[in-house]
Formats: sequence, C-alpha cells, structure tokens
Amino acid sequence: MYHSIKARIYPTEKQTEKLSQFFGCARWWWNYALNQTTTTYAETGKGLSREGLNALLPQLKKELPWLGECHSQILQSVTLNLSKSFINFFEKRAKFPNFKSKNGKQSIQYPQGTKFVDNLIYLPKLGWVKIKLCRSIEGQVKTVTISKNTSDQYFAAILTEQEREYPIPSSQGNTLGIDLGITDFCITSTGSKYPNPRHLKKHFGNLKRKQRKLSRKEKGSNSRKRARKLVARIHQRITNSRQDFLHKLSHKLVNENQVIVVEDLAVKNMVKNHCLAKAISDCGWSSFVEMLNYKCERSGKIFVKVDRFFPSSKTCSNCYYRVSTLPLDVRNWTCLSCGTKHDRDINAAANLKAEGLRLLALGTSATAEGGEVRPTRGRKTSVRHSPASSEAPTIPFAVGGG
Ligand SMILES: [Zn+2]
Repeated sequence: MYHSIKARIYPTEKQTEKLSQFFGCARWWWNYALNQTTTTYAETGKGLSREGLNALLPQLKKELPWLGECHSQILQSVTLNLSKSFINFFEKRAKFPNFKSKNGKQSIQYPQGTKFVDNLIYLPKLGWVKIKLCRSIEGQVKTVTISKNTSDQYFAAILTEQEREYPIPSSQGNTLGIDLGITDFCITSTGSKYPNPRHLKKHFGNLKRKQRKLSRKEKGSNSRKRARKLVARIHQRITNSRQDFLHKLSHKLVNENQVIVVEDLAVKNMVKNHCLAKAISDCGWSSFVEMLNYKCERSGKIFVKVDRFFPSSKTCSNCYYRVSTLPLDVRNWTCLSCGTKHDRDINAAANLKAEGLRLLALGTSATAEGGEVRPTRGRKTSVRHSPASSEAPTIPFAVGGG
C-alpha cells in the first residue's frame, strides 16, 4: 500500500537559492514542453509523447547551460507529470494543463536518490537538508516532492510503498450516511450536525484589507512583494485550519463506523454553475470525501459513494414516498403519506445510508458468487472467498457495536 507523509524542511540560504533555481528550471521546462506539445498538435494533429519530449532535453541543455545545472531526474519527472495531466484531460478528469507562474506554489519531484538520516533528508545536487518528521518513514521511498508555498515555507512530501496490504474490508458494524451542507458542514444519519467553521468568513475582513493594500502598490516594487506575502499568509492560515478541521472530523467518523456512505457531488460542476460557489469551495467537500475514502481504505472499512442523481432529499426515509419538489430553503417538512416530520438534511443522510446498504448488499453477494463459481487454475481453495469478517480485525466492531 502507498502512504504519503508531508514534512516541513528548512533549507539553508544557499540551498534556498539552489532550490529556486531548480523550481525555475522545472517551471521553464513544463511551460516549454506544454507549448511544444500544443503547437505540434496544432500543426500535425498529433501531440508529443513523453519520450519525444525527453529527447529534446540534451540539445536544450547545450543551448541553455543553466538548464543543465538542474538534476536531470527533476526534469524527467516534469515530463511524466505533464503526460499524466494530458491523460487526465483526455479522460475528462481534469482541465487542460496550465502554464506555471513564478508567483504560485512551486514544486519539484525526485523519483530517486534521496536518503534519510535522523532529522536530515538528502536531495541530489542540493545536499543534506534539515527536516521535521513527526513519524518514521516505513517502506520503500517512491518519490520525494519538494514544494514551496506562497508564504515561503518549504515542504517535502514523501511517498512510500509498504509491503503490508490494506486490511480486508468488512461491513459488519455501524453504517453512517453523511449529507454535506453549507450551513452545517456535515449531517449524519444518526442526527448529528457538524457546523461549518467558516474559516474564510472569519479571516475575510483581514484578507480584503490586505488585498486592497496590495492592489494599490506599484507593480514590480518591493513593497508590492511584501504585501503579496501578507495576503499569501492569510490564505495559508485559512487552508491550514480548514485541513485541520477536515482531518479531525473524517478521522472521528471513520473511527466510529464501519461503513461510510456519501453522495457523489460532482462538486466541480456545482462550483462552476452555482451562486453559492464561494461557500462551497471554501468548505472543502471534495477533500473531505477524499479523506473519508482513504481513511476507510487504510482501516479496513467500507466507503460507498451514491450516485448524485439519487433523490436523497426528496424521499421520505420512513415510507419512501417521494415529493416532487423541495426548494432549498425548506429546512423541515412533513411526509404527506406517513406524516413523519423530517429535518431536511438528517432525512437525506438517512436515505443515503439506506441506499449505501442496498448497493453494498448487491456488491458483496456478486463478489461472493464470483469467487464460488470461477475457481481458476484448478486450485479451488485458493480462490474461494472466505467470509470477510473472519479475516478482518475484530476490535473495531466490538467497540462500534451493531
Ligand atoms: Zn413518509
């Protein structure tokens, strides 16, 4: 299984200079390669492959000696990431890759050659850099990504691969349906509501003031640079406290339950089309769902995403009667069929839970049948599914209850 650790690093002044040079090279190569690919595509109808792009590097290094000072693997990682971006674009998972600016977040990636000793990390062509690791690194290091945020802080993201497999998931235990909202960040099928901390609102006045100051500064001046740093720092603070909130809440919910059911929101589309765009992108639903997903995976729990067209709000969770309309401002409603009084969001969460369990029942029975009827390679015992619950850790269910 893969695991990623992010730790702050503290390069010396000299290393900082070198790093900004590396960032510059990586950024230049990204923009150059992106431009090459798009112009080649416009001329010939075909893009450039990763190998095709990498083949340009030796000649470029002759023409531009400063490019040669950057570790070659950093540049090759850029090519790899660019190809991945194009694949994601063509498979409709992401937007068309953008040119990189020197004002945004900077990063470079080392695929190999890094080492760790005590509180130091070795980076090729840079040397030993102080690192603040909160836990030890287990398994094999796959890549190390060094980044600098707009507040001039440096980080190393270390991706490792461990021999250990993910625990086999079991659905025995509590199931929780989660509805995501704006007034309340998350509403559960057990009736708990977790209010949105509204990070942006709290910092909003401050941010606006600092942004106004920034806009009055002359372009290219030193005071503009300083003002931009101050704005970046507030953005940073907002991001940090939001991430902290999301981590704590997702940890708690995964810890207390065995199955987590959420709605597939296609948040991106909502943000594009909706007047609530700011509130939605501020509250970070998509990273929350992502956290729930990987935390479930790591602890042998089940994460279920329900189709976003499932009418979770408009269906009565008691008798399944469906109302034709339910405007967004209606927070409470009474079922016309059975008379149950509903809180809009808790009812939606309850429906999600039921739908998740239904999907899960279909899914598990199909897997079990598949294992029974298709014993390949003549070794029946090795392919037969054993009941998942007997192999999964038993402690969580004992604590969680039924
Ligand atoms: Zn009803």
